Amino acid sequence: MKNYKSILIAIIFSVAFFSTQNTYAQMPMPPEVPIWDANKVTLQLHKISDNVYAVSPSTTETETTKGIPQATSAGFIVGDKGVLLIETMLSKRLYDQLYKLIRSVTQKPIVYAVNTSDHGDHCFGNYLLPKETILIQNEFCKENLSKNYDGIKQFMIMLFGAGRGIEESVYRPADITIAINQSLKLDLGGGKIVEIINVGTAQSPADLFVYLKSAKENVLWAGNPFIAESPTIPWLFDGYFLEPVNNLNKIYNMIGDNDIVVPGHGRITNKKGIKYTIDYVEVLKTNVESAVKKGLTLEETKATVTMKEFNKGYELFNWLHFNFNVPNAYKDIKQNSTK
Ligand SMILES: [Zn+2]
Repeated sequence: MKNYKSILIAIIFSVAFFSTQNTYAQMPMPPEVPIWDANKVTLQLHKISDNVYAVSPSTTETETTKGIPQATSAGFIVGDKGVLLIETMLSKRLYDQLYKLIRSVTQKPIVYAVNTSDHGDHCFGNYLLPKETILIQNEFCKENLSKNYDGIKQFMIMLFGAGRGIEESVYRPADITIAINQSLKLDLGGGKIVEIINVGTAQSPADLFVYLKSAKENVLWAGNPFIAESPTIPWLFDGYFLEPVNNLNKIYNMIGDNDIVVPGHGRITNKKGIKYTIDYVEVLKTNVESAVKKGLTLEETKATVTMKEFNKGYELFNWLHFNFNVPNAYKDIKQNSTK
């Protein structure tokens, strides 16, 4: 009887998990929740160049290289026609800080807002945008948010805690979507041309990259695909590996050595700074390919592919590497090998 009961519970759990990915019922939990506390984050303005700003948590400068997980980075570009905002943050508290920082340098309207992900820390402030702002998302991002808003909320509350302003978020549909392998070029006036790029899955199928090209320098908002520089490793917990490896390389190869990179969750960096993510996924790919070739099971692969050389003090290394990155790499590579 007891056995039957536990089987039944296991079935209920797996049905709940697989029927709607977004209940995340069985997701292994990080060592500490919240991963970062949206009620404590202070956002800071960084002027990159004339009319180009990154906005990052005040701790990114000192904590990124210590391996402490950081809250979401954002930014905005001011053109003749108005402001293009990148990210709307997790909560009203953070959105309001971001809005104040914009208003500290310009009174121009927020003409466009872009979300680089369907994760709530990038888009749950959308409902607070002025209603005339044109909201831009990846096509999958809009579809997923429209169908699974409550599931994504629960997922965010699970990782970032209750009572952090996540509960209050209301779905606001995007006005413009960018389909896979498409990009959108916006001329904001004043020589500010912004390219918004959907290369496909680089962390999740909802990713967008925002690339500002100018005569002086280019700036890339990289979002979740490039979380931060070393010792941070990528969060490949949306179930994909081989596609992200290709697309991370695509973006890495697209940018120049002197480009400025605003990663999703870390201090402002450059091409060199995001190389760690590329190195990590390439070594993981090679190691898991060889494990699959040897016929190792997932458990054996986890025991073998520890990649200690990349475990340089990132607080979430074990959680991400063993629960998501290795299993997703194993799943994709094994599927590929039997094709
Ligand atoms: Zn994020």
